[in-house]
Amino acid sequence: MAKKVLKFGGTSVGTIERILHVASIIKRETDAGNKIIAVVSAMSGKTNELLKQSKSISNNFSKRELDVLLSSGEQVTCSLLAGALVEQGINAKSWLNWQIPILTEGENFNARIINMNTSKIDEFLSIKGVAIIPGFQGVSKIGDVTTIGRGGSDATAVAIAKLFGADTCEIYTDVDGVYSTDPNKIPLAKKIDKISYDEMLELSSLGAKVMQSSAVQTAMMYDIPLEVKSTFTNRHGTKIFNQESIDYTKSVTGVAYSKDDAKVTLIGVEDRPGVAANIFEPLSKNQINVDMVIQNISSDHKTTDVTFTIKRDDLSKTLEIIKNNNMINYNELTHNDKVSKISIVGAGMVSTPGITYKMFKGLAEEKINILAISTSEIKLSVIISEDDTLKAVKKLHSIFDLD
Ligand code: ASP
Ligand code: MG
Repeated sequence: MAKKVLKFGGTSVGTIERILHVASIIKRETDAGNKIIAVVSAMSGKTNELLKQSKSISNNFSKRELDVLLSSGEQVTCSLLAGALVEQGINAKSWLNWQIPILTEGENFNARIINMNTSKIDEFLSIKGVAIIPGFQGVSKIGDVTTIGRGGSDATAVAIAKLFGADTCEIYTDVDGVYSTDPNKIPLAKKIDKISYDEMLELSSLGAKVMQSSAVQTAMMYDIPLEVKSTFTNRHGTKIFNQESIDYTKSVTGVAYSKDDAKVTLIGVEDRPGVAANIFEPLSKNQINVDMVIQNISSDHKTTDVTFTIKRDDLSKTLEIIKNNNMINYNELTHNDKVSKISIVGAGMVSTPGITYKMFKGLAEEKINILAISTSEIKLSVIISEDDTLKAVKKLHSIFDLD
């Protein structure tokens, strides 16, 4: 008998039939003798629809009222699911966040879970009850309803798994796990059976959007094992846990790509101490996240070129900041937003020599030009022209034996 947190995402509860199907999954689990806490998202599209309604009143819609509005989506799913279980003779009950309560801290729309009361629900579980809890929301110290950021039901599930001391936290979704690359674009993509938190974080922040990154981070911090699996098939999903327990047979676990980057180059920047700081200080002050930075060696010791990458959404703001920055001199400012970032990720990379060379050689064979490079212990990323994205992903996927 295990204590399990099962989280069902928006598509898993997107229709009444699907909610009935989720009820049958929960029934199977309780029949097997497990204690179940289910965390649910709003029906798919619902949160966006509510957000749109608030915007049709005002773009500045009260944040307090926005949280009251948005939290209603999860409330609906909670009651429908609990009702469906009761209909099947299961002792299920929904709890809204203020009834538990799940205490949060921080501003409306972007709060964080800091604690929750477990006694009432634990008591209910001990009499074979099934608890259904809405994800994505909580209550503040002053008793206001809060929400914890888009995609926040994952974070609720992980927090509940931690505070209730659950044996597992299973994330049910519309894909059957984490893949070695985007299965919609590359049919040869393979499901990964086991992956470390670090690799998962790299893959999800790089574009493989299976789970909310901050929820994976919390799971890593408290060592809560996760499993991502499909609501619609019975296949095994992907287990996510700490690195020590993983036996690496491959150096590279996955290839991720994202098309939301842009590259900026300052040509002919003065080559003296302090210049880089002068370029980047106003960017950081304006919350612009700089990803990769490359400075060419200056041959004349007078000027150099500085290239860096940022999120594409930040491009116009970045260009404006640089143009208005009178602390720096340069000859020309160029930019390119038709770029994409391709990354190979693998915790086994550290112990395998020659990965960098193999990646560059593979790209060269496809005549793909590398515009910028960055590395970390478990990741190697390059910026290339957007048109070459699929060609690059395919090539890397094949040369690192992921096909
Ligand atoms: N319903 C919320 C959202 O769409 C939370 C979630 O789905 O995790 O962002
Ligand atoms: Mg969601």
